[in-house]
Amino acid sequence: MNNSENKQGKVVLVGAGPGDIGLLTLNGKQWLQKADVILYDHLVNPDMIRFTQKSAEIIYVGKKEGIASMEQEQINQLLVSKAREGKTVIRLKGGDPFIFGRGGEEIQAVRTAGIAFVIVPGVTSVTGVAAYAGIPLTHRNLSSTLSIITGSNEKKQGDIHIDWEKIAARSGTLVFLMGARKLPLIVEKLMSFGKSPDTPIAVVQWGTTARQKTWTGTLGTIVEISAKDKILPPALTIIGEVVNLKPVIEWYEHLPLFGKTVVVTRKGDQAEAMIDRLQELGAEPFFFPVIETIAPDDWSPLDNALNNLSQYQGLIFTSVNGVRFFVERLKAVDQDIRELKGLRVFTIGPKTADAVRDLGIRVDVVPENFVAESLIESIGKENIEGKRFLLPRATVARETLPEQLQKMGAIVDVAPAYKTILPDTPVETLAKRLEAGSIDVITFTSSSTVKNFLALTGEKLLPAIKKAKIACIGPVTAKTAQDAGLNVEIVPEQYTVPALLDAIEIYFNSH
Ligand code: SAH
Repeated sequence: MNNSENKQGKVVLVGAGPGDIGLLTLNGKQWLQKADVILYDHLVNPDMIRFTQKSAEIIYVGKKEGIASMEQEQINQLLVSKAREGKTVIRLKGGDPFIFGRGGEEIQAVRTAGIAFVIVPGVTSVTGVAAYAGIPLTHRNLSSTLSIITGSNEKKQGDIHIDWEKIAARSGTLVFLMGARKLPLIVEKLMSFGKSPDTPIAVVQWGTTARQKTWTGTLGTIVEISAKDKILPPALTIIGEVVNLKPVIEWYEHLPLFGKTVVVTRKGDQAEAMIDRLQELGAEPFFFPVIETIAPDDWSPLDNALNNLSQYQGLIFTSVNGVRFFVERLKAVDQDIRELKGLRVFTIGPKTADAVRDLGIRVDVVPENFVAESLIESIGKENIEGKRFLLPRATVARETLPEQLQKMGAIVDVAPAYKTILPDTPVETLAKRLEAGSIDVITFTSSSTVKNFLALTGEKLLPAIKKAKIACIGPVTAKTAQDAGLNVEIVPEQYTVPALLDAIEIYFNSH
């Protein structure tokens, strides 16, 4: 949708939170859904892009290998020029835009240009990362003030331009941002201006994500403690007595799948349930959709069937998409579910059954196992000789079901209700993470997710893909993955997404 003709452009400054996608605010998400253009930074979780419209223009303005890909002045100009085209421009920034985020400068430029703007605060890393590290920033007995301090300097070298004497004299909690590389300087300055070497300190790197890592110690010991690991940005440094509460309050790092990045290859709202559950388990979902469903090239087989529904005795759905596209088409040809009266409805899998029930239609048979073979077995218990079945499904699908039913004497009309295609999902970020070995699990929920995933990633990445654990929803999908040379280690007993996630949890419990 292009809204640009009939509305005034505006700039919306949105805080994206510190990393965990769930820490984006509801307002932030709504603006992303409405945006025509999105400019986003290095520290923004790129997965948020999935909330945007397909037509939205997405521009990365963050750093590439430590060098700004766009100067601040250029960013300001871009915000102004895109808004002048009448567009809703979202400026998405890590954490909260008004805490060391240059949000103020950008809005000043927008204001000077006379452009309307909105500001949506975000969860700053100061509070977000502290919460996920289990460190309360204030506490009645331990700290009544909080100072948020820059650990960086403008000129990239030497001292940080702050009043060390006054800061070292403060009694409450001190939080340094942008201080990863300057940790030795920060602790040395604080101690030389009189802060006790026994003051507790925690450094949290990549907080609220699977890469969260914490070092704790005292001002006197932390440099040595963290020396062997090389702390890299982004890292938050928390100094004060409150750090001692961490062992009691820490929780995120104890979740069953903490530290694991799990690739989700399903699409749209089917992916959402999986992503939610992964987050609950403490994993970081990596959204990489490999399937897009669109209308089939030719509606005529389905239209014919819909116009002659009375000739059928049974209707079989094998996927949620099949149900959705079927109902949409029913509406398109000016019919409704009343025409389905008298048809017995069969489904494979509980999700498909739910999708049917959501329409107010009873499901007559859901087989015990969620594969075609099991449905054939269930249907086989009925006398289907000479009965006519309609099977609305993907253009390309396994032939087992229609073939077997035909063998049993049924007449089966296969009608394409949708087609799956390969989306143009960008591969770069996934490729980098696979090669770095920081992808732990790749999940496949159908044979086509396997095939499309490999088609998108290509031969070159196969060795890196093999370093991750492969989790498949059921034996058919697992066989496809194995045939493609992957080593499948996780397959649940029940072929559902919740069972797949349970199986992943069990796998990591015992490995
Ligand atoms: N506006 C942002 C801060 C931008 S400055 C906010 O409100 O959080 C960037 C600094 O933020 C980093 O150098 C680091 O100190 C901190 N930071 C941001 N995300 C972080 C994360 N996930 N873990 C630890 N520190 C983070």
